[in-house]
Amino acid sequence: MTLSAAPRISCEVLETRADVARIFNIQRYSLNDGRGIRTVVFFKGCPHRCPWCANPESLSPHIHTVRRESKCLHCAPCLRDANECPSGAFENIGRDVTLDALVQEVMKDDVFFRASGGGVTLSGGEVLMQAPFAARFLARLRQLGVHTAMETAGDAPLSRLLPVANQCDEVLFDLKIMDARQAKLVLNLNLPRVLANFRHLAASGICVIPRIPLIPGYTLSQENLQRVLAFLQPTGVTVLHLLPFHAYGEPKYRLLGRDWAMKGIPAPSADEVGALRQRAEQAGFQVTVGG
Ligand code: SF4
Repeated sequence: MTLSAAPRISCEVLETRADVARIFNIQRYSLNDGRGIRTVVFFKGCPHRCPWCANPESLSPHIHTVRRESKCLHCAPCLRDANECPSGAFENIGRDVTLDALVQEVMKDDVFFRASGGGVTLSGGEVLMQAPFAARFLARLRQLGVHTAMETAGDAPLSRLLPVANQCDEVLFDLKIMDARQAKLVLNLNLPRVLANFRHLAASGICVIPRIPLIPGYTLSQENLQRVLAFLQPTGVTVLHLLPFHAYGEPKYRLLGRDWAMKGIPAPSADEVGALRQRAEQAGFQVTVGG
């Protein structure tokens, strides 16, 4: 069983409810998505199409079913009804969860948050597609004393971004292809809007942390980095996270029956990453590799 290609959708189009979210994963004990030990909630739906996306199951805003070939017994019942599968080969990607239930679920990890200075990070997909829920959810967590963060590409109207960002102690803000035409063509991303949003958050005093995925053939270049640095310098932001490409998402493409556009492309070498790091540090940035 395979998925059909996810439709291109925009943040503006998706109607969301403020008390129910559609998520596809909750990852506990994460160390790479904000400070301390984090619980990361992955929201479903993304308007972008990064060829290197490590979460292809996030792209469609719909709940869908996949079949794990390794578990399939190739028996007759599933031809009639996936619910009759005796081996549990069918798996739903995505579920709807209420605000109260999600708060209860993540607060199970409160002891780790308090011991490590960690908290909850919203990721995706693009969480701004479910902005009304995200803002309410984060506000509830803050009332409970939990540190809050989100990962975003920042490509939404400010009226959608700001209520969520205002509830975040940290906004992990991706800066990818820095050429507007290529960003639109390759990622379906409105770069001028992204940059204007970043500037606005930084000027508002919100803690915004720029992150560059270092992707061979797309963003892994001195030229792209230089554009990022030139953009950041007037904003007063002096930290920068570099996220080297990895192929951990490849098996998910197989599961979904999709082509992996990055097939055979190796991760950047330590020298390549080191050279970019050095350039950013020489420009006065405090650089973290891995985020
Ligand atoms: S913005 Fe993130 S979730 Fe969306 S396609 Fe790009 S990498 Fe994947």
